[in-house]
Amino acid sequence: MKNQFVYNFNDGNKEMKNILGGKGANLAEMKKIGLPVPPGFTITTEACNKYYEDNKKVDSQIIEEIYENLKKMEKETGKIFGNPDKPLLVSVRSGSVISMPGMMDTVLNLGLNDKTVEGLSELTNNFKFAYDSYRRFIQMFGDVVLGIPKYKFDGILESIKIKNEYEDNTELNKSDLKELIEKYKDLVKKEIKSDFPQDPNKQLIMAVDAVFDSWNNARATVYRNLNEIPHHLGTAVNIQSMVFGNLGNTSGTGVAFTRNPSTGENKIFGEFLINAQGEDVVAGIRTPKPIEDLKDIMPDSYNEFIKVTHILEKHYKDMQDIEFTIEKSKLYLLQTRTGKRTAKAAVNIAVDMVHEGLIDKNTGIMRIDPKQIDQLLHPSFKPKELEQAELLAKGLPASPGAASGRVFFTSEDVIKAATKGEKAILVRVETSPEDIEGMVNAQGILTARGGMTSHAAVVARGMGKCCVAGCSELRVEEHNKQFKINDITITEGDYISLDGNTGNVYKDIIETQETKMIGSFAKIMEWSDSVRKLQVRANADTPKDSIVSVEFGAEGIGLCRTEHMFFKDNRILAVREMIISRTVEDRKRALEKLLPYQKEDFIGIFEAMAGRPVTIRLLDPPLHEFLPHKEEDIRLLAKDINIEFEKLKVIIDDLKEVNPMLGHRGCRLAITYPEIYEMQVKAIIMAAIELKQNKNMDIKPEIMIPLIGHSKELEIIKNLVCNTANRILENEDIKLNYSVGTMIEIPRAALIADEIAEHAEFFSFGTNDLTQMALGFSRDDSGKFINEYREKEIFSHDPFARLDQSGVGKLVEIAVKLGKEARPDIKLGICGEHGGDPQSIEFFHKVGLHYISCSPYRVPIARLAAAQSAIKNM
Ligand code: PEP
Ligand code: MG
Repeated sequence: MKNQFVYNFNDGNKEMKNILGGKGANLAEMKKIGLPVPPGFTITTEACNKYYEDNKKVDSQIIEEIYENLKKMEKETGKIFGNPDKPLLVSVRSGSVISMPGMMDTVLNLGLNDKTVEGLSELTNNFKFAYDSYRRFIQMFGDVVLGIPKYKFDGILESIKIKNEYEDNTELNKSDLKELIEKYKDLVKKEIKSDFPQDPNKQLIMAVDAVFDSWNNARATVYRNLNEIPHHLGTAVNIQSMVFGNLGNTSGTGVAFTRNPSTGENKIFGEFLINAQGEDVVAGIRTPKPIEDLKDIMPDSYNEFIKVTHILEKHYKDMQDIEFTIEKSKLYLLQTRTGKRTAKAAVNIAVDMVHEGLIDKNTGIMRIDPKQIDQLLHPSFKPKELEQAELLAKGLPASPGAASGRVFFTSEDVIKAATKGEKAILVRVETSPEDIEGMVNAQGILTARGGMTSHAAVVARGMGKCCVAGCSELRVEEHNKQFKINDITITEGDYISLDGNTGNVYKDIIETQETKMIGSFAKIMEWSDSVRKLQVRANADTPKDSIVSVEFGAEGIGLCRTEHMFFKDNRILAVREMIISRTVEDRKRALEKLLPYQKEDFIGIFEAMAGRPVTIRLLDPPLHEFLPHKEEDIRLLAKDINIEFEKLKVIIDDLKEVNPMLGHRGCRLAITYPEIYEMQVKAIIMAAIELKQNKNMDIKPEIMIPLIGHSKELEIIKNLVCNTANRILENEDIKLNYSVGTMIEIPRAALIADEIAEHAEFFSFGTNDLTQMALGFSRDDSGKFINEYREKEIFSHDPFARLDQSGVGKLVEIAVKLGKEARPDIKLGICGEHGGDPQSIEFFHKVGLHYISCSPYRVPIARLAAAQSAIKNM
């Protein structure tokens, strides 16, 4: 059977997203449930892929199918494509499987030419409308299909307006529009060395080509990279008969969300423009009116629209983002899709919908993108500081968060500032998709024009970036690199602050504070906790981090890296003395000095964790990391510890290693210098005893040995740990449950995990080192080449951020299996960076680990991701 490349809206449904794209599938679905959708058809994503396979040529079979469907459309509408008496005009719009708002191209009013424009004028009895549509079409087609920069068209339009002293496009009269169209056509001829195409069939196929091409334009590619959307999906193309929102004051166009996309409030939220075409709203050319105002202007259409929003939300069981047009009081739907929303809105909507009985709890949990949770933990301004801040202006609260930074007016300048480590705010009259990289690099975005659904607002929300849009008091002079508000001028490099929750713009920097998890978020976390199987712990090295971890819901510490404590305050001196000691006695003396500090550290952490499990890893990094390397610093140290400079320099040079990551580090330190671990174990046990005696706390320390590769290493060190601990406990005549385990970080350890498990009560996968050693990629140097590896699709993700499941993952699986065989009750966890990555978490769930451990701020993400893993694999 031959492939079908074109589907009429009457033949599709919402399950066909993969081939019809989101827009096409949903248009067909709306048609199916009886909503008013103008006739049309969809060219599939498979046709797009075929177009690329055929060296960018639309296959003749596809062209045939397009014409067949065009005929059907003519029948349904009673209009004829290219016929001046009753011209059918169409829109040509992209529509990918995963929505990429504004990233690809659209052409409206296609089918117009010098003859059909006359027909349209007579048919509608509206000359202005017809000629305005034609000039829009030439401009859009010229820009999107012929590649003539839009500003060249804008320049011609402006010059006619200036000549006639017009303020608004609507003032253009018949002869102005005719003059404008002629000038546009002259521009086209000059630019492409041929006339503007008059044949509608040719226009149509050229537009289809252009939409296919736009799949690979720079901004779409950046957007896909940013949102991890595969590049091979391709876009569908939707061809739909035009309905006109610009047919006078009983027409209009708008977009609306069924709930507030910023807060989640269960109230319709949208904007519209009277006498305008769709793109005017999204492009932010005119600032639209709130949807509620439509109630007074066109009450019947408003009521019908509200009814439709309810139908759609019930049908899709999710918040919808709907595009509509009203043509002479008749409502048409042009798109519905799952609305993009802030994290705050996402949790509020999910919880509300569960309470409304629209979805169940598990669906509610699945509705939230764990990556988005980050946004909820975004900072806000400190209230006291905010009280004293100077308010400059107020715009729309387009995307929440708080941001301070220096003002820049172009994306390039923002990127330059950001690469120098400066915090930048991107200020624009309005943003366009070309600004995407500037937006990525900015702390926040401020625009003078555009509404809550403008490009800036939609994209910033998706990125979780603070954005204030439509700040109309602002007069932005991009060419002078300054903006003015009343009589205040802010120039490039000046500091401002943006509050994305209120839309306020302030002068200077305002200090920020972290937000707390409350309300719906707490509910989602509670539901997540009730379904997840994985426990979630945090990697924390200080009492302060431990407290934050507990606030974020950590159930213990999975990794306490003791080396960080060695740098604190004046301990570094004792650490250095210990390292350069040439005799065991000297080393022990230096370690004695460190002991009380370490004990205090552990008391602080145990107290903060209030009886929750704490895994303490004994010293791991190579010793030379603690030593100074600059001559002046070595001289200072020599003086401090009373040793000759030359002698100290020789010792330090001796400690240098060619490849320290594979050198004298981890458990190898304890094989050669057992005194170091001995001191650390003493500190741990003494801290636990003290808390037991003074505060009646029952601490069960988990002592973890890093970088084990051979079971004998672990056997020796475990004996050292147990002998040290037991000696103290016997002396004090106290009983304490402690356990000894190891990290699995060396591939050999994974492969002989059964032998290792004989001596280990728990395994914690150190997937950072395990990845480094399994791949032979240096953790510290892979940044230089990993992007090329991703671009060439050798790895789809950075393997240090997302677990390489087929390679490193296999080592984890082997170790889990062997470990369990040798010791069925072995406790299994992971504490590498992958413990905070949702996809990796799903893998850890599937292989049957007991817990994941990640940085404190990622704990909520991990709790949600663990719950989603459990639901997906039920
Ligand atoms: C690891 O290697 O995964 C680990 C957690 O230890 P570190 O990052 O401290 O080497
Ligand atoms: Mg490690």
